Amino acid sequence: MMDLKNLTIKKFNKGLVKKEFSAFEITKAFFDLIKSRDKEIGAYLRLSENTALERAKIVDAELNSNSKLSILAGIPLAIKDNILIKGEITTAASKILENYKASYDATVIKKLKNNGAVFLGKTNMDEFAMGSSTENSAFQKTRNPRDSERVPGGSSGGSAAAVAADMAVAALGSDTGGSIRQPANFCGVVGLKPTYGAVSRYGLIAMASSLDQIGPITKTVEDAAILFKEISGKDKFDATSVDIKYNDESPYINYVGDELLNPNFEKIKKLKIGLPKEYFIEGLNKETQKAVQETIENLKKSGFEFKEISLPRTKYALSCYYIIMPAEVSVNVARFDGIRYSRIQNSIRPSADKIQNLRDIYLKTRGEGFGDEVKRRIILGTFVLSSGYYDTYYSKAQKVRQMIKHDFEKAFQEVDVILTPVSPTPAFKIGEKTSDPLQMYLEDIFTIPVNLAGLPAVSIPTRTKGLPIGFQLIGKHFREADILGIGQWYERN
Ligand code: GLN
Repeated sequence: MMDLKNLTIKKFNKGLVKKEFSAFEITKAFFDLIKSRDKEIGAYLRLSENTALERAKIVDAELNSNSKLSILAGIPLAIKDNILIKGEITTAASKILENYKASYDATVIKKLKNNGAVFLGKTNMDEFAMGSSTENSAFQKTRNPRDSERVPGGSSGGSAAAVAADMAVAALGSDTGGSIRQPANFCGVVGLKPTYGAVSRYGLIAMASSLDQIGPITKTVEDAAILFKEISGKDKFDATSVDIKYNDESPYINYVGDELLNPNFEKIKKLKIGLPKEYFIEGLNKETQKAVQETIENLKKSGFEFKEISLPRTKYALSCYYIIMPAEVSVNVARFDGIRYSRIQNSIRPSADKIQNLRDIYLKTRGEGFGDEVKRRIILGTFVLSSGYYDTYYSKAQKVRQMIKHDFEKAFQEVDVILTPVSPTPAFKIGEKTSDPLQMYLEDIFTIPVNLAGLPAVSIPTRTKGLPIGFQLIGKHFREADILGIGQWYERN
């Protein structure tokens, strides 16, 4: 029987094909482990044991009939609870969606299903993906598997914790300002935020549509490449999704092809790496600084060339994000009105609640259904979009966003990839930052500029002992192959 610890997609696939175990056995073993281990961690909101075991059986039957299987066949995955799986409750960790059953599959789920993947359950998160510690979930806390006093990061904290605690081979998360990379960083796993448009957002409960992307959380960079390859591509249900086809004249070299899974390390080692001076600042935690510096030294020793660069508008990124993001949030969550998506008959008793008109329903369901952080962002977003303040805040922030993007474009004329810390500190204690939203917002200072510019970035664990500390590699648009290539090189050397 395969040891679930350190079980990767790659290893699972090899073992399955050689019939060292069945998909059913492994899936069963995962549920046994989850039932004991997750009492302490709290990574999962719901499990889908029956459907998962059914799907595993189908994969085993296909294998026995000698059909050719996808590399993802039978792989037990954890899915963040803002990604729709048809027929399953999907709450985005919000009370307002407590009873919502998804009526269709997200495109990423459809793709994974077509490849025979198995879904173990839905993972905990900050409500509607708003937060950096998973403490904003309306349902439960999640603990960091590496230190149970500490948060797993967020908002994809449940997915990162599930992978780090070996309660899934890999997971999907979503990243609007760092929600894949930061929890991966805190839990000591790999997290990839793809280029905006590389992965369809259809069936992802929207937070801020111009920033959101779905991406993999995995144990290895290689696994992140495997999952990314399968979930990416053009989708007719998401007009912002694109297909980058291989073409020698194209500025983008194909990410869908071989390069992603079998990087040409000769080529990879010629990539020039930029170090933005604005990211190596005083406020940076000492251990983080040290771990990232050691990684840089190691890469230098192996022959990678580094260059100091400047991203001068970095200091405006956080303010810019906290105008654009809430503006989009306020529009996106307007659809949760207590009538659609959630069943008002379960929560409202018209006479006892003194409901007389539609407005009363809105006030009651939204007042009770949304948590404080969601309300804070609705109010902020409505304010910056209001007619008197639109020009002062929102349209200014859009201009600043363009300038931040321009900074990256300029930097990418000098270097191919950018290396930075992921977060200013390692995982903090549960409760440490809940009383001060601004402290919490600062967590994302190194990840947010990437979303504003629509770039791909991956968080990879350094080899430091103690609490996990990762480093971030940021690539050019649609050059996931570069950052995952360096990552795969690092992982093998
Ligand atoms: N922590 C950031 C926020 O609260 C990012 C969240 C995310 O990426 N979904 O907005």
